Amino acid sequence: MVAQHRRMMPPMEYVRLSDEAAGLDGVIAIHSTARGPAAGGCRFWTYEDTSLAMADAFRLAEGMSYKNAMARLPFGGGKAVLRRPAGEFDRRALFEAFGEAVEKLDGRYVTAEDVGTNVGDMECVARHTRHVAGRTALPGLAGGDPSPWTALGVFEAMKAAVAFRHGGTLSGMTVAISGVGNVGAGLARLLREAGANLVVADIDAARCARLADELGAAVVSVEEIAASPADVFAPCALGGALNAGTVAVLKAGIVCGAANNQLAEPDIAQALMARGISYAPDYVVNAGGIINVSAEYLGESEQEVRNRVLEIGPRTHEVLAIAADEGLSPNAVADRMAEDLMQAPEPLPA
Ligand code: NAD
Repeated sequence: MVAQHRRMMPPMEYVRLSDEAAGLDGVIAIHSTARGPAAGGCRFWTYEDTSLAMADAFRLAEGMSYKNAMARLPFGGGKAVLRRPAGEFDRRALFEAFGEAVEKLDGRYVTAEDVGTNVGDMECVARHTRHVAGRTALPGLAGGDPSPWTALGVFEAMKAAVAFRHGGTLSGMTVAISGVGNVGAGLARLLREAGANLVVADIDAARCARLADELGAAVVSVEEIAASPADVFAPCALGGALNAGTVAVLKAGIVCGAANNQLAEPDIAQALMARGISYAPDYVVNAGGIINVSAEYLGESEQEVRNRVLEIGPRTHEVLAIAADEGLSPNAVADRMAEDLMQAPEPLPA
């Protein structure tokens, strides 16, 4: 079987960040500004060398272009990746220097939190630029922790996938959740309220047991979760949950979860199709967080965030329906839709 690959997009623009005194070493990558400023969080992580950090930034910035376009946000895709210094360092000075670098781009890139960064870091960035979100929420306005919005978006997508495949609701369905952190636990609570049965797994056994107690969920090991009898498998831990091994043993007919980059290889989309499994593409499903970040930057209300997040359900249904009609993987259909949307500039509201 032939894997569908993403269309060639414009070459990646990037700015190298280097300020020895502040401990800053990294890159801001801008993949697309066709729909608006390039938006995507700032990852702060340990990399052996700068070329690895740059490769990660390019991959993540491209992913943000697809996610933002698919969520119909007036943003392109970008990402900052900063290398975490090996020894002691002044965190405030580092993120202030990063804020100065963001400001120099004059709004072409908008940053927020990602793996390794937090609200305090974004407050340091905000001392030097207004092109930052993920700050403390103001009453009535969008902002704060994005994970409840991500959980709601995944829940809406799952409802749509179940309706598409079985014509029913989540009540009485069994959902296997791998990873019950911020998003996975929020999703589990929404599912329980909707009458679903839960099977959960997490490398953090104590966290998993607490949630299972609260919700009456069954617990299995992280090695067993993909093969657990279930109607839906929800990867909510790290990337790469769907590989040749897990796809071969999956019992669920639907995969729908929050984790980024769920497909370990692009060909896995075909392997899922060959097994008749409906895969709700990760970046379509998990856009609730960036929808919240985008609304914060634009000064929008929580209600506007909710309205946009609730659109994730119908969008997921549309992707699955087109894929079934055309005999393509849902991932290929989503990529094609996102690429078309990336060509359509959408001005920022005045
Ligand atoms: P989190 O760190 O709060 O939770 C992750 C959980 O996964 C933790 O409980 C961890 O112990 C567990 N875990 C790690 N490795 C595991 C494994 N091999 N098997 C089972 N469990 C494992 O993170 P989160 O904010 O809940 O995000 C979860 C996923 O969703 C990540 O892939 C993240 O990139 C993605 N995502 C999150 C958001 C958001 O708003 N937080 C938005 C979009 C995408």
